[in-house]
Amino acid sequence: MGVNYLRVSVTDACNLRCLYCNPTGCCEPVDRREVLRFEEIHRVVALLAEYGVSKVRLTGGEPLLRKDLPVLVEKLASTAGIEQVMLTTNGVLLEQMASRLKAAGLNRVNISLDSIDREGYRRITGSDLLQKVMRGVREAIRVGLVPVKINCVVLKGINESEIPALARLGKSMPVTVRFIEYCPTVRRAAAAIDYVPNNEVREIIEREHGALSQVAMGAGDGPAVYFKAPDSAGIIGFISGRSSAFCSRCNRLRLTSDGRIKPCLHSPHSYDLKELIRNGAGDRQVRSVLEQILSEKPRYTKLNSRAEEFSMCKVGG
Ligand code: SAM
Repeated sequence: MGVNYLRVSVTDACNLRCLYCNPTGCCEPVDRREVLRFEEIHRVVALLAEYGVSKVRLTGGEPLLRKDLPVLVEKLASTAGIEQVMLTTNGVLLEQMASRLKAAGLNRVNISLDSIDREGYRRITGSDLLQKVMRGVREAIRVGLVPVKINCVVLKGINESEIPALARLGKSMPVTVRFIEYCPTVRRAAAAIDYVPNNEVREIIEREHGALSQVAMGAGDGPAVYFKAPDSAGIIGFISGRSSAFCSRCNRLRLTSDGRIKPCLHSPHSYDLKELIRNGAGDRQVRSVLEQILSEKPRYTKLNSRAEEFSMCKVGG
């Protein structure tokens, strides 16, 4: 599968402390000088677009913490070859940012929401901000950053009981709800957290909504598999990175906040583009490294990678 999708972590900083991703004190912040500047991100994206990258997702950390993010969105959206600029956010700052992002050319947004119970949300994220996030979801829909996708990571014994309520969100709002299997990234969190395989999540949903039927997928749709419930609870997606391997369908690269290209989330291997760029490499030299990365990409798969601890915020979840 060719690479047409780049995920960019624009900052490793986050305003939530989700217990499975970024628990307090778990990740050393990246020195600000090491974080890629907008013009550096833009240069990498413009060069990758020459090789077929047409979709860019801004993530982090919490991307809305990056000052003037709409300025970057505008630059990327007007880059030759880039057809879609998307955002993954926890939604805390979305209510105030959504219309500026839309005006800057952002196409759509994924919002991470692992609980719709006030206390459950506070327990997972460390903050009492559920209502603020829900206002952000509604504002994203209102300004047309659609389809809005809600990403839920299901943690055994923590938000498992909320699966039916989370799936029901697609009934009360025009959103697609996706269930993502937790994968261990931070050793300290992984010791205390277990995942719920998506086949179990599906069974729980089917008990309430009836048998799900698969929705046809397009090539390049990425790792999610989508279903429809008979009672029109909206589209429900599953991303099963733990219980299945979808490496053959992987169409993406990641650009970390400190300027490294990571060809596979599960591989410790990365290529330092920031050093190359800051040492004055010309476009021809950067292109030749990108060509090497793209040609080596099929070599990196979950199955031949050695698991090691990494920060999802820095890499860009
Ligand atoms: N702050 C933004 C947000 O919350 O959407 C963007 C960054 S966050 C790292 C991106 C996504 O990664 C979130 O949906 C989060 O739930 C997911 N994530 C983080 N750690 C994960 C893990 N260990 N396993 C599975 N998903 C994870």
